[in-house]
Amino acid sequence: MAGPTKTVSLLLDGQTVDLAVRRSARAQNIALRIDPAKQTPELVLPPRAAESEGLEFVRSRAGWLCERLAALPPHVPFRDGESLPLRDVPHRIVHDPGARGGVWRDMDRIVVSGRAEHLARRLQDWLRREARAAIAPAVQDKARLLGRPFGKITVRNQRSRWGSCAPNGNLSFNWRLVLTPDWVLDYVVAHEVAHLAVPNHSTAFWRTVDQLTHHADTGRAWLRQNGDRLFRYG
Ligand SMILES: [Zn+2]
Repeated sequence: MAGPTKTVSLLLDGQTVDLAVRRSARAQNIALRIDPAKQTPELVLPPRAAESEGLEFVRSRAGWLCERLAALPPHVPFRDGESLPLRDVPHRIVHDPGARGGVWRDMDRIVVSGRAEHLARRLQDWLRREARAAIAPAVQDKARLLGRPFGKITVRNQRSRWGSCAPNGNLSFNWRLVLTPDWVLDYVVAHEVAHLAVPNHSTAFWRTVDQLTHHADTGRAWLRQNGDRLFRYG
C-alpha cells in the first residue's frame, strides 16, 4: 500500500534536490529510486525507519544520485510524431522532409521541413523565437509600467529555472515558457521585471509583482504542478 508522499528539499553536492519521501507498509528496507516520468528521486521508508535515517541514507548516496539525475534522458525528444504543448495546447510534430519554409504551425501541427537530423535543432530554434515573440512585448509593457529600464532579453535552454534578472538589468527566460498558458508566461515575466526594482523576494517584491500581473498566485501554483513535466521536452 502506498502511503502519503511529502517533498523534502536537500542540498546535495551543491545542488538543491527535491526528494519525494513516502512510507510503505510493505517495504523491508530504505530504498532510493528515481521516478522516470517526473524525473524526481523518491525515498521509500519502511514502517519502522525514522525519516532522519532515510535522509542520512540519501546523503550517503549523493554522488550516485546527482549523477543519475544529470544523466536522465530527455523524456520527450523532438522528433516526428511526438506531441508538444504549444501555449498549453497539444500540437503534433510533423516532419515534412520535402517541404520548404523551415518550421511553421498548421492548426494543431508543427511542421518541420528539411533533413531528419536537423529537426530537433530547427524546432528548438523556432520555439525560442516563438517564446521571444511572446516574452519581449510583455517585458516592454511591464518595465514601462514599473518605470524601470532593462538590459538584454535572452531566451535560453535553462535546465531548472524559468527566468532570471541580472544586477545589470539583463533578463533571461526559459524557452519552455512557450509551452505554458499565456497567463503563466505573464506571471514569470512580471516576476523577473519586478526584480528590476526589488532584487529579493520580500513582501515589497510580491507587492510589485501584483502590480504587474493578476496571475502571481495561480502562475506559481501552475508551475509547481506542471513545471517538471515541461522540463522533459527538448
Ligand atoms: Zn525571483
